[in-house]
Order: sequence, then structure tokens, then C-alpha cells
Amino acid sequence: MSVKLVLLGPPGSGKGTQGALLSKFYGIPQISTGDMLRQAVDEGAELGKRVQDMLTRGQLVPDEVMVSVVEERVSREDCAQGFILDGFPRTTDQARALERVLPGGIDAVVFLHVPREEVIARLAGRLTCRKCSAVFSKRDSSLCPVCGGDLYQRDDDLRSTVEHRLKVYEEHTAPLVGYYRTLDKVLEFDGTGPVEEVARGVESAIARVIA
Ligand SMILES: [Zn+2]
Repeated sequence: MSVKLVLLGPPGSGKGTQGALLSKFYGIPQISTGDMLRQAVDEGAELGKRVQDMLTRGQLVPDEVMVSVVEERVSREDCAQGFILDGFPRTTDQARALERVLPGGIDAVVFLHVPREEVIARLAGRLTCRKCSAVFSKRDSSLCPVCGGDLYQRDDDLRSTVEHRLKVYEEHTAPLVGYYRTLDKVLEFDGTGPVEEVARGVESAIARVIA
């Protein structure tokens, strides 16, 4: 049995946490784009040298190179039981290529849905302590409950920044989800519940797919 998954979800959806839980549950690696590129470079093979060259020059890694890197990565021993891709594919072209190079393609896309307003509330409602860097939600207090320092809003957590990040995410993700829907591979979950509850829902949905 193997489980080949792609994780999709907006920033603040708990995607990283769910990926880690799934990785532990199935005993399969969670692979991010950054890890894949770093590993390719570390290996120093021909592909790695091409990637390093592009990264050094600040160039974007073209689709066909990304797909080769992923294909090579998931053919390794630790992926014999499957894998969880996080951050790849980013475009429908990459998704199509991935379906071509993997026998049978991926098994499912785990799509964590969190309403726009909830994401904005989660991310834009965060305050950080200037002194000890602890993070709190806005309603807690105006001074740091840990050290008494001043709380401020990081640029990343400003409402306008969060809205922009969401817009970029939606533009990239909508076509990708649409493509996987045509293949009937999208498992959609409400990402607003407690972490453990969401995880159980994801695991039982996957069990039905790979049964
Ligand atoms: Zn503090």
C-alpha cells in the first residue's frame, strides 16, 4: 500500500500541522519544494548543478526541472510507502506533468478549506512582543502577558499584507484545484475545527480512497 498526497490550503489553514500529523500517521515523508531543491543541490549530480546555477542567479526553476527533481525525489527508498507534497505542484502544468511521471498519478489532494474572513482574522489578529517575541491574539492584552513588554503587529500580519498573500494564493490555487477536480482527486476539509478532529477526518477520507 502506498499513499501519494498533495497538500493544498491557504496560509494560516494549519496545512503544516496537518502535513506533519499525516506524515507521522502513515510513516511517509512530507516533502517541501525547498527541501527537494536543497537535496538536489547537495547531491551535486547534474540536475543539482543546474538547479544550483539557477538559484545562484536568482532565476526561477522551470517546470520541467522542478518535475525532474520531484520525480527523482519520490523514487527514493523513503517514499516506497508514499509521500506528502507540500508546495508542489503550484501550477496546472506542473500538476499535469506530475500525473504523467507518476504511475497512476497522485492518490488525492488534501484541500484544507478555511473561509477568507477566518484566515484574515487568524493572521491579522496576531500581535508580537517587542521584548520576548511571543505571539498572542489581539484580544489577550495590550502588554505581553509573559514579560510585560509592548505588543506590536508585524508587517506580515497586517491586514493588507494578509489580504495580498491570500489573493496570490487564490489566483494560483483555484485553477490547480479545478484541474484535480476533473480527475476526481480532491478531498476537501473544513480546516476551522480542532487540529485532531480535522486530522481524523482527513485520515478516514484517505482510507476510503486507497482502500
Ligand atoms: Zn514578552
